[in-house]
Amino acid sequence: MSKAGIPVLNYHAIDGNMAANPDSRNVSVSLQSFKNHMEWLHKHGYKSISEADLRNLVLHRKPVSGKHMLITFDDGYYSLYQHAQPIMAQYGFTATLFLSTAYIGKPYGLSDFYFVGDDRQLSWEEIRSLSANGWSIQSHGDNHVKMNGLDKQTLIKEITDSKKAIEENLGKPVDSFAFPYGLYNKMVLDQLKATGYTMAYSVHSGLLSRSSQRMRIPRIEINNMDTMESFMTKVTTGYISPENERRSKIRDIIYGNPAVKDLIEKVTPKFGFGNH
Ligand SMILES: [Zn+2]
Repeated sequence: MSKAGIPVLNYHAIDGNMAANPDSRNVSVSLQSFKNHMEWLHKHGYKSISEADLRNLVLHRKPVSGKHMLITFDDGYYSLYQHAQPIMAQYGFTATLFLSTAYIGKPYGLSDFYFVGDDRQLSWEEIRSLSANGWSIQSHGDNHVKMNGLDKQTLIKEITDSKKAIEENLGKPVDSFAFPYGLYNKMVLDQLKATGYTMAYSVHSGLLSRSSQRMRIPRIEINNMDTMESFMTKVTTGYISPENERRSKIRDIIYGNPAVKDLIEKVTPKFGFGNH
């Protein structure tokens, strides 16, 4: 790993129709922006690392040489199969998809997913195709609910059902989790470990470094509000701005202990460090 660290980028969906009129509620990035991002990464010598390589690095400290990044997608939109995978394949890039499993193959998608244009949820057949093309498919829970608001029994069901559904449909192990809405607490981390997960991805900003914790891997969210300039800043520094970096580093120290994080969020729900 370079001294600076590895950017773990977090996308959701690709909007094939949207070239202008950015909407802050919309988690899609336009097709043109996504193409520009991948082209920039390729031109600047980035190679995509697999989730398994990142796992080896974080859990076993096995170094990877060169300039690397990991691209992740949350939820499970059809536009990944339609747009993202073919574009990324041109540059030899693969991705990790954190999938919410409950509504796959059912007529209605999860109500809190934000579908743009003709986007929809992926089918198992399309997910198997992504997997066959080198994508790693990991868990984003079953129903895409706020994990920090669940009782223990429901929490265990959420994280085991999604793991089982992916493992059964793809025949590959699921060991990593990404928190829906970036929300977690100590019980979520404890139960993930107890049910066989060995890594979890947050939406805390920053580059992956030697000091990153395995149950809260930092990720940098890329959305339709990003300009090419903000994209480059995020990839190279891990943060949107120096102010974001300062606040995030203070938060990382305070949130280092999950019990302390829970206590702070309980007494000050709007504690100013947020998830990002
Ligand atoms: Zn999500």
